[in-house]
Amino acid sequence: MKEYERLFENLESLKIKGVAKKTLEKLNRLKIYTLYDLLYYFPKYYEKQITNKDLTKLLDGEQVTLEGIIDDISTRYINGKIMIVSKFYNQTGIIELIWFNNRYIMYNLKNKNKLKITGKVKRTSKIQIINPHYTKIREISNGNISETNKPVYSLTSGLKQENLKKIIENAIDKYGYLLQENIPLELVQKYNFLSRKEAITLLHNPSSQQKLNESYKRILYEEIVILEMYILYNKYINNVENNKGYIIQNNMEMTKKYIKSLDFELTVDQKKVVKKIFDEIKSGKNINRLIQGDVGSGKTVVSVICMLHLVENGYQAAIMTPTEVLSYQHYENIKKELEKIGFEDVVFLSSSVKGKKRKEILEKIKNNEAKIIVGTHSLIQDNVEFNNLGIIVIDEQHRFGVHQREKLREKSVLKNIIVMSATPIPRSLALTIYGDLDISSIRHMPSNRKKVKTKWIKNKDEQEKMYNFINSKLEEKMQVYVVSPRVFMDDKSTLKSAEETFLEYKKQFSNYKVELLHGKQNSKQKTEILEKFELGEIDILVSTTVIEVGINVVNANIMVIRNANRFGLSTLHQLRGRVGRGDKQAYCFLEEISDDLEEILSNKRLEILEKTTDGFEISEKDLELRKSGEIFGEKQSGISDLVFVDLVKHLKEIEEIRDYITNYLDKTKGEIENPYLILDIKNKQRLNEKIDE
Ligand code: ADP
Ligand code: MG
Repeated sequence: MKEYERLFENLESLKIKGVAKKTLEKLNRLKIYTLYDLLYYFPKYYEKQITNKDLTKLLDGEQVTLEGIIDDISTRYINGKIMIVSKFYNQTGIIELIWFNNRYIMYNLKNKNKLKITGKVKRTSKIQIINPHYTKIREISNGNISETNKPVYSLTSGLKQENLKKIIENAIDKYGYLLQENIPLELVQKYNFLSRKEAITLLHNPSSQQKLNESYKRILYEEIVILEMYILYNKYINNVENNKGYIIQNNMEMTKKYIKSLDFELTVDQKKVVKKIFDEIKSGKNINRLIQGDVGSGKTVVSVICMLHLVENGYQAAIMTPTEVLSYQHYENIKKELEKIGFEDVVFLSSSVKGKKRKEILEKIKNNEAKIIVGTHSLIQDNVEFNNLGIIVIDEQHRFGVHQREKLREKSVLKNIIVMSATPIPRSLALTIYGDLDISSIRHMPSNRKKVKTKWIKNKDEQEKMYNFINSKLEEKMQVYVVSPRVFMDDKSTLKSAEETFLEYKKQFSNYKVELLHGKQNSKQKTEILEKFELGEIDILVSTTVIEVGINVVNANIMVIRNANRFGLSTLHQLRGRVGRGDKQAYCFLEEISDDLEEILSNKRLEILEKTTDGFEISEKDLELRKSGEIFGEKQSGISDLVFVDLVKHLKEIEEIRDYITNYLDKTKGEIENPYLILDIKNKQRLNEKIDE
């Protein structure tokens, strides 16, 4: 066992040939620190050397190297951008090559030039390669079709492909014996997996496509096994602890009073979640629940009801959000609402609360005078001492790592936790991402909500009309958000910055008050601007996505999103959720005035948003269109470090393994029998803690 742990040792002490101090620094730059990191540093892709492959037999998506003759080079202009189209042929057939925005090709290539090209095949009604790399060659070789997979690694400056390949080979030679089987044997047999050592060796040096596929499959499953075991093991342990239970008096008066004081009736979905949670509290089970639902579906009310319930039974409750702005808004709303029923012990804590004020609040939290505590990350700092914390609500979970969540949970005496996410995702996926939580969904919006009218603005004409429309609405005293993908101007980019937008809008709407808000301002500035916007002193608020999370200004019913195609569907949907919060009709303009061909082609996405406002549906579409990593952002522990697994693409495999492991843990009573797997999981946990920090 001790021996096996050498896998997680730093490379320094392992004396691998080729890893001197200088090289070590380079490897570290690639985030390779341990032997494990090195052996699991797999090629980014494999370059296929295919010579004389029949051009008519190329497959869509295939990465190929081909030799042939270029001919019929022609240029076209599309919206002022140049596109170069040519034929490319050899004795087996003919395909088309296309380059976008690459004028240089015209000077460099002539008809009948012999070329060796590399690129990705696009096969529709034609066979094309877009933007291929090329070198001129003297002769087209006439050998047999050969197909080899040459590993290509991501590198850092000063490190060459051959060096890295050699280092990994040396490491396998010397330490390959450490790669013990870490998948339960039953699974190895069921799927007929290659051994771990063989698979890793082959991934770095494939002998055939067939072997490469088998190796890939094994490591893919290995990754899933570690992921699911990590998640489900924690869940299993949590559940065991949960069964120990607690008893509360179950006072209900104040909670009921609050529900009565609301000027609306809870929706069916809201009631269901509340009931579920109350039942759990009553039975003494620790709450460990994700509530997911679209922006405006009324998650906050649900959480306040639950918090209040524990408060009236003697506990404190905390609600944590990722941004200062959102926290403060929650604080003000919750305070205002609870004052109506005569409840006043609500406090706010964030890093901007300083000095005497901070001391005072920390004191109140410590001595149980503060009952509901609203705040940011500050709440998980060690110097925040709760007196009798009964429940923790985490808003917008996707911004927090699992580890942070656990840290906060530790502060609660009852270990009750509610996580709220406004990025609804299909249940199957939620089970992986929030695998350690129970899941509730609020699917139906309060019935008084009007759908936000959404339009994609495609050209200057439409933009002009939009300006006129906005003008007329400004006259009616409606307020406007304008969102840009970046803060500052940048010569290299054509994206509309918030700064630029601010100037443009000031000119365009010179009779109105336009203000700029972005993440680079300090929090006092931001709070001030938002307050003014809330009070209606600002008509148009130009910003970046800082407003994505949770702002609630009922009179702001128009949103313009510039370079909309830059954003993911889910992000656009989130942004749009900022408007339409009152009873007025709201409008969202997705501006994408682009003359870039590829961008226009991909703009099907914006049409989806024009058609639907159902977050669950949008997330499903988003999943089809993008890779999971992009959706959940980098910082999602347990998930951000996945190498082969794509949570969307491999849903089926993940489900298989999840079922297997759930049964496995039941059978073994939470014992993981393979010692190597335990160590791999610990390693993963260590990494995740690092990610969270
Ligand atoms: P979320 O946190 O899910 O984005 P909120 O809880 O902030 O949504 O609710 C958005 C708005 O809808 C708030 O102003 C809230 O008072 C209101 N609201 C919540 N539940 C209902 C309901 N059942 N009927 C009508 N309005 C509701
Ligand atoms: Mg909310």
